[in-house]
Amino acid sequence: MQKTLKQLHEELIKGALTVEELVGISKKIIAEKEADVHALLGMYSDTLISSQIEKANEMLKNGTATMLTGIPIVLKDNILVKGEVATGGSKILEHYVATYDATVVKKLKEAGAILIGRANMDEFAMGGSTENSAYGVTKNPLDGTKVAGGSSGGSAAVVAYGGVPVSLGSDTGGSIRQPASFCGIVGLKTTYGDVSRYGLMAMGSSLDQIGPFGNCIEDVEEVYKIITGNDPLDSTSLPKEFLYGEDENNTLKKIIGVPMSFINREGIDKEVLENFNTTLELLTKAGYQVKDITIPNLEKSLSVYYVLMFAEVSSNLARYDGIRYGLSHPGETSIRSYFESRTAGFGSEVRRRILLGTYVLSSGYYDAYYNKANLVRGMLKKEFEDIFKDIDVIATPTSPIPAFTIGEKSSDPLAMYLADIFTVPVNITGVPAISIPSGKTKAGLPLGLQFIAPHTREDVLFTYGRAVEKLY
Ligand code: GLN
Repeated sequence: MQKTLKQLHEELIKGALTVEELVGISKKIIAEKEADVHALLGMYSDTLISSQIEKANEMLKNGTATMLTGIPIVLKDNILVKGEVATGGSKILEHYVATYDATVVKKLKEAGAILIGRANMDEFAMGGSTENSAYGVTKNPLDGTKVAGGSSGGSAAVVAYGGVPVSLGSDTGGSIRQPASFCGIVGLKTTYGDVSRYGLMAMGSSLDQIGPFGNCIEDVEEVYKIITGNDPLDSTSLPKEFLYGEDENNTLKKIIGVPMSFINREGIDKEVLENFNTTLELLTKAGYQVKDITIPNLEKSLSVYYVLMFAEVSSNLARYDGIRYGLSHPGETSIRSYFESRTAGFGSEVRRRILLGTYVLSSGYYDAYYNKANLVRGMLKKEFEDIFKDIDVIATPTSPIPAFTIGEKSSDPLAMYLADIFTVPVNITGVPAISIPSGKTKAGLPLGLQFIAPHTREDVLFTYGRAVEKLY
C-alpha cells in the first residue's frame, strides 16, 4: 500500500475505492507477508472492524470524513482498545482484555480510522529489536536475516511491507525512530506530554510517548494532527496549539546543529557516518547551514537513561503481581505467588530491568544513582534549551548501526543499550524528534537521519523532514 493518505482519501471520497475494498487489500497483503515477517500478534475482532467500517461509511456519506476515515491502521500491542486483547509483548498479559480505550484510540475511532491489528514489540517495550517479545521476533521486511528494530518493530515492519499506510508505536528511548530507520520509513517521537499516554502500558512514565509511523512526512503529520492534544485523563498532558510544518512566516534560521564529536565516535558504522556526512552536504547545497555544536552532558545521556528508565520500570511493573490481573501461578504463600507468577510471566530482559531498577532506588543507592541521574537530566534539559537559541534543529544519524542480524546482540544487553546512544537524549529532555529515510547501505539496508527540535516544535521537524525527503 504505497499510496499516501491523501491519495487514498481522495479515492474514498470519490467512491473510486470503498472502505471494504481498502480493508480487504490491507488484510490480503498482511496474510501474504506475515508468515515471513511476523509484524503482528493478532488482528482485532471482526465485530470491532465491521463497526468501524460502518462508521467510516457513514462519515464518508455525510461529509464528515477526516484524512483517516476508512484507513486501516495498526497499533503497537501496548495501546489499549476496549474489549480487545493487549499483551504488551508479554506472557504475563497473554489473555488480558482491555477494559477501556486509550485516548489515542478514542481519537482514531472518532476520526473514522479502521484499527485492524496489534503489532509485535519487545516485552513491555524493553529492547531495540523485538527479540525480547514473548511471541517471537519480527523480521526486517527488506532482509529477513535482520531485525526490524524495536521496540516498535512490528508497527514499523507492517508499514514497510505495505500492510497499512500508517501505524502507531511508542518511544521511551528510541523505539519509534530506530525501527523506522531500520525499515526505511518515517517515525515521529512527539514532545513529552503532546500525545496522551492514557491507555498506554507504562514503561518509563517520564519518558514514554506515543507516535506515528508512515511512508512519508505528510502521512505522519496527518496522524499526528489527529492524536495530539491536551487530555485531562493524563496529568502530564500539555495544553498546545497545533502548528503546521510549512514555516509560512519564514521564522526558521535554516541552521542545523551537529554535535560532531558525539557522533564521530568508536562504535559508529562507517557507512552510517558517510551517509550522514553526505546528507549534511546535500542540505548545505540546498541552502541550510551546518554548525558544529557541543552539548557538555550529552555524553552522559545513556547512563542517565538507563538509571531513570530502570527505576521507573521497577515501580511501573509492580502491578503485575499475579494477583490483581494477568497470568497467575498461585503459590503456598503470597510471596510464592508473586515469585511463581513473575518467573513464569516475565522474560529475562524485564527481570533484569526490574532488579536493576529496584537496586538504584534502594535506600543506600538512591542518592548515588537515581538522584544523580535526575540532576544530570535537569542540566541536559537546560543545555538543550540554550543550544536551540542558535539553531533550528539538531541532526544525528538515528542509529549508529544499520539493522543488525537476528541473534547477533541478543546475548549482549550492553551492546544493545549502546545502540540507543543517539535516541535517548531526546526522551530525557522531552523534546520531539523524527527519523527520516536517508538512503541505504551498499548491502541495501535502510539508513535514517534524526532531527531533534525544541519543545513542542513538531512543525519544525516536518519542515526539515520535507527538505530531506526531497534529497532521497
Ligand atoms: N531500546 C531502548 C530500551 O531498550 C528504547 C526502548 C523504547 O523506546 N521503548 O530501553
